[in-house]
Amino acid sequence: MTNSPAVSTETLAELRRRYALERERRVRPDGTRQYLAADAEFGCYAADPYTAETAEREPLRDTVDVAVVGGGFGGILAGARLRQQGVERIRVIDRGGDFGGTWYWNRYPGIHCDIEAHVYLPMLDETGYVPEWKYAPGEEIRRHAVRIAEKYDLYADALFSTSVTSLAWDETAQAWTVATDRGDRFLATYVITATGTMSELKLPGIPGIENFRGHTFHTSRWDYAYTGGTADGGLTGLADKSVGVVGTGATGVQVVPKLAEDAGHLYVFQRTPSTVDVRANRRTTAEDVGADRDGWARERRDNFLRITSGEAAGEDLVADRWTSSAGLLEKLLPSFCRQGDRTAFEAAYEVADATKMNEIRARVEQVVADADTAEKLKPWYRYACKRPTFSDTYLQAFNRDNVTLVDTADSHGIERMTERGVVVGGTEYELDCLIFATGFSVGVSGVHSGKLPVHGRGGVQLLHAWGRRGPRSLHGFTGNGFPNLIRLGAVQSASSVNYTHVLDEHAVHAAALVAAAEAKGAVIEPSREAEDAWLAVLAEDAPDHEWFHAECTPGYYNGEGRGRANGPIAYPHGAFAFHGLLKRWREESMDDVLRARTPTVR
Ligand code: NAP
Repeated sequence: MTNSPAVSTETLAELRRRYALERERRVRPDGTRQYLAADAEFGCYAADPYTAETAEREPLRDTVDVAVVGGGFGGILAGARLRQQGVERIRVIDRGGDFGGTWYWNRYPGIHCDIEAHVYLPMLDETGYVPEWKYAPGEEIRRHAVRIAEKYDLYADALFSTSVTSLAWDETAQAWTVATDRGDRFLATYVITATGTMSELKLPGIPGIENFRGHTFHTSRWDYAYTGGTADGGLTGLADKSVGVVGTGATGVQVVPKLAEDAGHLYVFQRTPSTVDVRANRRTTAEDVGADRDGWARERRDNFLRITSGEAAGEDLVADRWTSSAGLLEKLLPSFCRQGDRTAFEAAYEVADATKMNEIRARVEQVVADADTAEKLKPWYRYACKRPTFSDTYLQAFNRDNVTLVDTADSHGIERMTERGVVVGGTEYELDCLIFATGFSVGVSGVHSGKLPVHGRGGVQLLHAWGRRGPRSLHGFTGNGFPNLIRLGAVQSASSVNYTHVLDEHAVHAAALVAAAEAKGAVIEPSREAEDAWLAVLAEDAPDHEWFHAECTPGYYNGEGRGRANGPIAYPHGAFAFHGLLKRWREESMDDVLRARTPTVR
């Protein structure tokens, strides 16, 4: 915890009162049910605007070594690490038209990654690439994803514009049958799922949303044919248009300044303001980051993870607002739960949090000229209640004559939509175009949601095998009854704000498992006892964050106000410790999950 100037007891009491009030104003009885999925009549919102034609092809009936479901950084890194282990036939399957995952879909104007590029972009040591900006634009990141895929020859067997519809273990073949929506039915000895955590866009369930006759789209499917321009701006198609944007999360904060530059008029419909901290993006050189040394990127990435996981790190190489606020992310990440005296720690935490939030609110006042608008842009909750954002142009956009902030907190968001526009507080705002920056559903994609059915040994469905008590695994990756299936992601493992780092460690682990199984002619399958032992580790030191989230304004972190952290149970000692644990396990115990390949009858 950083040293903070004293905040008086009265101030803390007043903040607690105000935070409770602001939460009450926003909690809705319909919680997560308030959102609409982009399917059925709203399916057009999910269409791929970046790959015009899906080329016809014959369905595949062949056999590969590994099928990787998902071509984002998780899938790409799994492919690259498998290639390093000498695996030959690797088939990555993605519903997008190319590699990139979130960076394939999200190309909205202003898109950047707010984690430093030199730690966020994976495999910089291996590719020799050195980012040009401290915080990279989305297109640079997407190109880097392609760069890795090319370097490790992942295009050769890849399937794009294709969704995997089921996975079924074939006992006789000792392999998985992979079925897709393009009629494919091929065999894969191993399957790695890397389906992401926020890949299903969501729309606000505004009454009358279907009535609007203007143009609409979601930020993750940007319609440049309509707006003109590129991710750098120049949206000339909006010059004479009245444009609305719904949502002021990390995406809204990045897109609003670009819309403000080019729209005839921009209405920003805000329900809860984000914390908007200093960005200070700048060009960087190889010299700045010491990129002339071998292993420089790994060292920098480890340093960032150490600090944001609450470990002692000595020097702070990245030195930005993530690392300086690391102590305040305690409620966001499970890694700080080792603090000894909880009461003293909570008290110090509250003071540090109040100091940070006062600084954030003071910045709004300094930047935004109109006092009423500034007041509405101030966030009233604790720092870790919502994902922090960073911008040096967002608050400034509200000083423009063509930008209007429409605060919807009193009406729980937009009241309704009409043919012409949206209604808030009884006032109709006429719009030519309405853009949804309303984010993504959490935990509804991939094998954990049942959207991708998985049938293991004896045809048993993964979700049935788990039952009501939820996921079972060893380290989050493998499970009994589901041989050679490796699930990448944050469920029952450990996460970090620098998610690509986590994915890379998981990819290294997955590739090592495959290599070990190949070397021994075995299948990968932990025993139920190994799963039970891992579940006990997760439960033993599980931090109690429930009270914290119960006091937060609603959002996807707390299941829209339910009061529970919306994340799955994670390794309680943080990502840095988890990676160390995996490494030791690979060195000492990996053979425990290798079983004879002979078909088993149960
Ligand atoms: P988000 O954080 O879920 O934000 C959705 C926004 O829509 C919120 O401001 C929400 O308001 C608003 N909203 C929803 N329904 C509404 C309604 N009926 N009326 C008015 N407003 C409504 O989504 P996001 O901004 O797309 O970000 C998603 C995640 O993507 C981030 O948390 C982050 O993990 C990632 N991301 C990362 C970066 C990066 O630089 N690394 C950049 C962008 C996004 P409430 O807050 O009131 O619910």
